[in-house]
Amino acid sequence: MKRRTFLKATGISGLGVSLMPQVIGAPSEMPLTTPANTSICIATWNFHKASKTAGELLDSGASALDAVEKGVMVEESNLENHTVGKGGAPDRDGFVTLDACIMAPDGDCGSVAFLHDIEHPVSVARKVMEKTPHKMLVGEGALAFALEQGFTRQNLLTEASKEAWEEWLEEKEYRPIINVENHDTIGMLCLDENGDLAGACTTSGLAYKMRGRVGDSPIIGSGLFLDNEIGGAVATGLGEEIMKNVSSFLIVELMRQGNSPQKACELAMDRIIKSNPAYRDFQVAFLAINKQGEVGSFCIHPGFTYMKYQDKQNTNFNSPSFLK
Ligand code: ASP
Repeated sequence: MKRRTFLKATGISGLGVSLMPQVIGAPSEMPLTTPANTSICIATWNFHKASKTAGELLDSGASALDAVEKGVMVEESNLENHTVGKGGAPDRDGFVTLDACIMAPDGDCGSVAFLHDIEHPVSVARKVMEKTPHKMLVGEGALAFALEQGFTRQNLLTEASKEAWEEWLEEKEYRPIINVENHDTIGMLCLDENGDLAGACTTSGLAYKMRGRVGDSPIIGSGLFLDNEIGGAVATGLGEEIMKNVSSFLIVELMRQGNSPQKACELAMDRIIKSNPAYRDFQVAFLAINKQGEVGSFCIHPGFTYMKYQDKQNTNFNSPSFLK
């Protein structure tokens, strides 16, 4: 079967590459309830430096909004991370296109999708929120806006990502889905010393995706949602499944109904699992925090970890999973 025919048939591509973020130490078990008497940063996967950056900013009195932006920017610049920002894997035609969003304590938000040639899509998303009457800009329009705002245009395709893509192009058969480690999108939520919550999510999306494909990460309610009175949630994994279920919004609404972040993540995962009998073939992971500082997480396959920075401790935790 020709590559494109196959991609069309499966609807998904590029999941066979291993793009695991750098592991620093083994993850710990889930933390128990923690009162929010200090600032807290949580983030998907094991992005130690990103959560430390945001956590230390919070310690120094920065707002949750500044902390999430600066925190995820670390991964946007990390050339070793092949699913976020510069160094991200390209689409199947060789173009790196980025998606990101940000959400402020007052519920305002900004988002960009299918943006190219800009290293920090999260900062462009923040400008969309702060400088335009809109919430989302995409493609060429997003790029023109970024340039107008003083962002510098640059090539985001590194030699390493180009080589991996060229290798991918040579393959005759593509194994869709399930390399559970290759979703490295960073979603981050910060609770600052005023008790205010902000969030950000940024990604280059699925490796070798169809040109123009946008996943859950820049979609408010799917890859990220928060309500400053309740809590917030972020998602990573197969965006198509997350979008279908508007999962981050659902998790916040489940917390509003009185569920703990952990229970809310589990209930939202039930929806994912019930909505697609092929759930064994893909990974989805959720991470949530409530206003009390309680944290919850859940994933389909074992392997998802998350960072938590609190009281100067920056720790990587193992998430419970549906499949054992
Ligand atoms: N959720 C992202 C997307 O579908 C992928 C990821 O989490 O790595 O674009």
